[in-house]
Amino acid sequence: MKWPKDEGSQCPSCGQRAIVVTSDPIDQAIAGRAYRVAGFTYNRCSACGEEYFSAGQVDDILRAANAAARQELGRLSGDDVAAIRRGLGLTQCQLASRVGVSVGLVTRWERGTVLPNAMADRYLRDLSAHPELVDAGELIARESRGPYRPRARSIAARATKL
Ligand SMILES: [Zn+2]
Repeated sequence: MKWPKDEGSQCPSCGQRAIVVTSDPIDQAIAGRAYRVAGFTYNRCSACGEEYFSAGQVDDILRAANAAARQELGRLSGDDVAAIRRGLGLTQCQLASRVGVSVGLVTRWERGTVLPNAMADRYLRDLSAHPELVDAGELIARESRGPYRPRARSIAARATKL
């Protein structure tokens, strides 16, 4: 499939033959702020305003906007996150469970298509500076599940006594 589509192609959204090819800068929202990225050639419908990007462009636009946001907000880059994770000897899956996020989110952090939020960024830095927190985190996770289990067990124990 040719990308981008020719000028005057039909817009999939409104059906008008109003597609134009543009390289206008794009304002991408990251953490509630718009970051302007340039250098992408894509389609826009001059009738309804819908913009069309290829799948690869979407990731590239997110990466570029995240890079700008990261500098301004002082957040970890995807490479930083991957380096911290490897330094701790964790898989993406293991890091995800330590931080309490999905493995898909860790993958997107490392690809640079999603910026870690302030809390995750701080926690990752803390883990990096204090690798012993990885084990402590596991203890805390176990304790936080704790109150329910003993109670359930004690009820069961009482039930068998009766
Ligand atoms: Zn349209």
